[in-house]
Amino acid sequence: MFLSITKGQCQTNKKPNFIIILADDLGYGDVGFTGSTQIKTPHIDALAKSGVVFTDGYVSGPVCAPSRAGLITGRNQVNFGYDNNLTDALPQFNPEYSGLPVTEKTIADRLSNLGYVNGIIGKWHLGEKEQFHPTNRGFDEFWGYLGGGHNYFPSDTSNKKYNRPIISNYKEPQPITYITDDKGDECVDFIKRHKDEPFFLYASFNAPHAPMQALEEDLKLYAGIKNEKRRTYAAMIHRLDVNIGRMIKELKAQEIYDDTVIVFLSDNGGPDTNNGSINAPYNGRKGILLEGGIRVPFVISYPEKLKSGIYNKAITSLDLAPTFVALAGGKITKKDRFDGVNIFPFITNKIEGNPHETLMWRFTISAGIRKGNWKLVRLPDRMPLLFNLEEDPSEQNNVAKEHWDLVQTMLKELGNWDVSTPHVLFLEGAKWRRNQLDLYDKKYQLTQPKK
Ligand code: CA
Repeated sequence: MFLSITKGQCQTNKKPNFIIILADDLGYGDVGFTGSTQIKTPHIDALAKSGVVFTDGYVSGPVCAPSRAGLITGRNQVNFGYDNNLTDALPQFNPEYSGLPVTEKTIADRLSNLGYVNGIIGKWHLGEKEQFHPTNRGFDEFWGYLGGGHNYFPSDTSNKKYNRPIISNYKEPQPITYITDDKGDECVDFIKRHKDEPFFLYASFNAPHAPMQALEEDLKLYAGIKNEKRRTYAAMIHRLDVNIGRMIKELKAQEIYDDTVIVFLSDNGGPDTNNGSINAPYNGRKGILLEGGIRVPFVISYPEKLKSGIYNKAITSLDLAPTFVALAGGKITKKDRFDGVNIFPFITNKIEGNPHETLMWRFTISAGIRKGNWKLVRLPDRMPLLFNLEEDPSEQNNVAKEHWDLVQTMLKELGNWDVSTPHVLFLEGAKWRRNQLDLYDKKYQLTQPKK
């Protein structure tokens, strides 16, 4: 850790802009700055180079909707019953509660109160009933879709789930061309229109989430990858990278790049064979609490006040909401009940120590806790798993038997949290429990493929 505040710190009280660029189901090892040998992401890498790269950056859930609920509120979603992915409500659950509880404040709600204009482009996935729509959750502008995914091309209507209408409250939505490009267009347009006022842009891309659909010209770039799914996946990431490049170019053209806080991360780990992703060097995948499900590529760029570097203490997507509020000049009090913290003083070395002594996760059949470099995972059909992440980042050696006191301490802390949380608001189908447990016994690719 070698970060410090750059000399610009006292020169301006201008409120920074905020952009969250969220990739969807991106494998940990599938961008340049996390070591991909196959996939080239020059624009994402340039962003990483201009900012702080978090080696131990986590999301709060291993699947889309819970992770997004945590990210957008700064509260662990399990603490308000949003444990699960949104699906069709089971008969015993009231569909009026299938979404982000209206009692929770989003980043947009909080920044609205601080004078910001807020926009979301892309995937919402936090509820489809009127009360959950982004324009009722602090966002002034919405161009996108309410569900968990979308077709990339207009012509492909094979999967109804991914064939939902584009909704916008500020324009008649144009027909899509290739949706990653369309989202890029809208993000660039948002930046142009709001360059003179403090803004928050939630750029919610669906790449490289299924359905696996890529442009021919991008597929040609990866003709050397034999596996068709991985080739398509690589091409989809290329197009994401191109559009991130377009956004950065626009910010620079408008001379607001330096005072814009840009965060890049994925909402969860890659689902390996489902989309061709690789989480190397981490074990596991989307849907489970091994590192491959929850540790993600994570960057914050803010050239005006944040010197570039690497930060290696554990942080979480839950930290974004309080960090943004603090940087925007807001006050954080206990009433906010944030589970995240303002990480800015930590990453600028104003505060020593760890932003978090403990991080905890819960998802369907599994729960996990990290304390320092120790990580414990609790499953229903076996003794707890304990890993030392410093010595064994790929979680290959379960050392629970050698550290039984520690296992008990960590189980106690995890269990106490568990029984303090409210009942869940909605559930996924029962078959997912078996499915997720089986994923703990699979073998995952822990090294990068040859080029
Ligand atoms: Ca996802």
